[in-house]
Amino acid sequence: MANESLRQQLANLYKLQEHDRELLSYHRRLTEIPKHIEKLELSVTKFKTDISTKTDELTEIEKNLRSMNVELESNEEQREKYRNEQREVTSNDAYNALENQIEFLDQKDLETEEQILELMEKVDSLKVELDKLSDEVASEDQIKSKKTAEFRKEQKVLKADIDLKIKQRSEFLPNIGKSLGNQYQKWIERNKGDFVALGKNGTCGSCRLTIQPQSLKEAQKYEKLVYCSNCKRVLYVEPLSNDEPYP
Ligand SMILES: [Zn+2]
Repeated sequence: MANESLRQQLANLYKLQEHDRELLSYHRRLTEIPKHIEKLELSVTKFKTDISTKTDELTEIEKNLRSMNVELESNEEQREKYRNEQREVTSNDAYNALENQIEFLDQKDLETEEQILELMEKVDSLKVELDKLSDEVASEDQIKSKKTAEFRKEQKVLKADIDLKIKQRSEFLPNIGKSLGNQYQKWIERNKGDFVALGKNGTCGSCRLTIQPQSLKEAQKYEKLVYCSNCKRVLYVEPLSNDEPYP
């Protein structure tokens, strides 16, 4: 006749182990959530950095354009001065020297105008890119807010579930012998894994090795704790009779 009390203790301990497994998975999920939120923040930050870089570039180009236009205006004034002087000079040499100065200014202006055209094209394309980026950041920001709110909600639910699970834990403990309960506690603190291994079809459910026939026979009596000779877990083996609940 099997020792019902020890069998019941093992059954309860197995239930507690399942309970704790779930509790652990809640904990894991809870610690993952801040990482997901951080990732969402990063995706928005990436866009914002991109926008700020391109905005700086645009500002710099516009500044250059302004100084180029100022240069064109001052060249125009200078040209006007040379022309006035040309009207007053008496020698050909002096006239030609001024003409050379004017041509030099003309050449410089041509180059500047070409640069201005290039920069204006760049300004146009930057503005298009910035428009696109600002649309993208707006939609990314919306996704971030929505998902972050979902994560925050999940955090709350998980915290409540964890609190409940921790409370429920104490309901299992009175139905597990103190010594067995202590062994379990020590094991999970050290190993963070299963302490009870189900023994089915003569095999240890944890390490998958065959349970030695002698150990199996003893375990089925539920008179004392029997450990798997390989993985050292407590064996909770299926009873000889199919009528009894298992696990
Ligand atoms: Zn084992």
